[in-house]
Amino acid sequence: MTDSAPLKTRYRDAGCGQLDASWADRDAVVAGWVHRRRDLGGLYFVDIRDRTGLLQLSFGDWTDESSLNLLEDLNPEDVIQARGIVGRRPAAAINPGMSTGEVELQVAHLDRLSVSEPLPILVYQPPEEELPSDELRLQHRVLDLRRPEMQHNLRLRHVVTDATRASLTEQGFLEVETPLLTRQTPEGARDYIVPSRMHQGRFFALPQSPQLYKQLLVTGGCDRYFQIAKCLRDEDLRADRQPEFTQIDIEMAFVEQEDVFEMAERMFTRIWSDGLGEELETPFAHLPHAEALERYGTDKPDLRIPWELIDLTDVLTGIGFGIFDGAASAGGRIRGFVARGGAALSRSRVDHYNERAQEAGAKGALWLKRTSEGWSGAPARFVGEETAAELVALTGIDEGDILFIVAGPDHESNPALDVLRRYVARELDAVAEDESRWLWITEFPLFEKDWDTGEIAPAQHAFTMPVNPDPALIAEDPLSVTAHAYDIVYNGMEFGSGSIRCHYPDVQRAILSAIGLTPQQIEARFGFLLEAFRYGVPPHGGVAVGLDRLVAVMAGSTSIRDVIAFPKTAAARGLLEGSPSTVEPEELAELGIRIDPQG
Ligand code: ASP
Repeated sequence: MTDSAPLKTRYRDAGCGQLDASWADRDAVVAGWVHRRRDLGGLYFVDIRDRTGLLQLSFGDWTDESSLNLLEDLNPEDVIQARGIVGRRPAAAINPGMSTGEVELQVAHLDRLSVSEPLPILVYQPPEEELPSDELRLQHRVLDLRRPEMQHNLRLRHVVTDATRASLTEQGFLEVETPLLTRQTPEGARDYIVPSRMHQGRFFALPQSPQLYKQLLVTGGCDRYFQIAKCLRDEDLRADRQPEFTQIDIEMAFVEQEDVFEMAERMFTRIWSDGLGEELETPFAHLPHAEALERYGTDKPDLRIPWELIDLTDVLTGIGFGIFDGAASAGGRIRGFVARGGAALSRSRVDHYNERAQEAGAKGALWLKRTSEGWSGAPARFVGEETAAELVALTGIDEGDILFIVAGPDHESNPALDVLRRYVARELDAVAEDESRWLWITEFPLFEKDWDTGEIAPAQHAFTMPVNPDPALIAEDPLSVTAHAYDIVYNGMEFGSGSIRCHYPDVQRAILSAIGLTPQQIEARFGFLLEAFRYGVPPHGGVAVGLDRLVAVMAGSTSIRDVIAFPKTAAARGLLEGSPSTVEPEELAELGIRIDPQG
């Protein structure tokens, strides 16, 4: 991703990183920040930096005196302007790792445009040094953003949004903005609310996503809508979530699910090719939700891990091991997976996995190792010859392998087996890191049950078309209803989700009432949607892709904060500007709000 933008202005002829060998022997003026100064026994060099990269400035008897004096005085991050002649470096000094590595600017005259005070965090980071803490980086984000890695990330993000716009425009989409001040929306998280001065006691909500607006846009005849949309959710932040994040938000009229898939695959292909120079193979694989849970214990499986879950209930009940019999007689199952080569894992590692399984909600994880000496692990003495033969036949376990086992109801064992599968695979280097595995997860259930409260909630959101759009079935047996809903998963990460929407008002009412809303509440909250659906609504569907995660993955970053210019901390604070902040009592009075310090 070279930055060849035409950057010539009255201050400079080109970006610092753009002066390659084709500039040799020409006069040039550049401007940028002092990245690093080196003094090699009377020979002075300064690396000057801007977003395009670094250029070596060299000083000597071709430099005027005032510039040599200034050189002595330069601080890191001063902003300077240098004019001189682009010279070829001697062969021994060529740096093939830099776009400007074959040349240097032999400075005739240097000006300082702005002075930098001593830096609270370094921009030029010697490679062996660790980055400053996240807190310091966010507090001094302006300096942090100057680091070449962050400049690369900003640029990559731009290339991704640019490719998105280009692909969607080619596919007939219109970019439409939707309101930020809106009414509470139903994506399942807490809303950020904004008090209204003109209507005291009333509040706007910031959108959790433009879900209803995009459905109203296609109902309004727009046909194909997209937006690079800000979404705001006031959640207790889990690792690497942000209270405001960005989605590539998409909606289309007159489509079935496969139309949405084809559109999105074209878009991802363009993004991957523009951003990474790689060709994607399409169509992406499809995996029904129930099958994903059965084979991997999760609806976002990482298919780069070759191991699959196996149902061991028939083989392992009745062998005399109480935990297995107890789980099976309570209606649960015994499931597990074989980690190839895992018999070499130490006892303490394996015990540690047990803790991970418990953290994920299971009672624990058991294991059976098979080695040349036979079987080991807590259930081993119950594994007679016949059971051993059945296990080998069912799981393919070989000498040197380990079988991890979790017993219990699926809603407890699935998360535990998922965590173990991913965790152990990483430790045993069993993840095919060089592969890219894209996957559509399809046929989500319409609803799911909260196992703690027993409540029923939409598995994705409430505006999804059931495969069988029968209001009576939705009322009687909601958990049996599947939906035309899908997720896009890349290497075990959910990149986005979407659905075909429910465009039948009576079915939409049945869905909203199944999640516990009264007819009055339905009218008050969603009357505007149902009203719009009374006057001719096209079948429609869409998808929303999380831009931050997408770019972070493409940038090889582990944190989405690295691809957001001004992110919040994990405690939802803006450290740079100091938000959230208090406001003056008069402003609160105007809003009719009084702070109750006890509250
Ligand atoms: N609005 C949904 C979300 O934010 C995505 C969609 O169904 O298009 O998850």
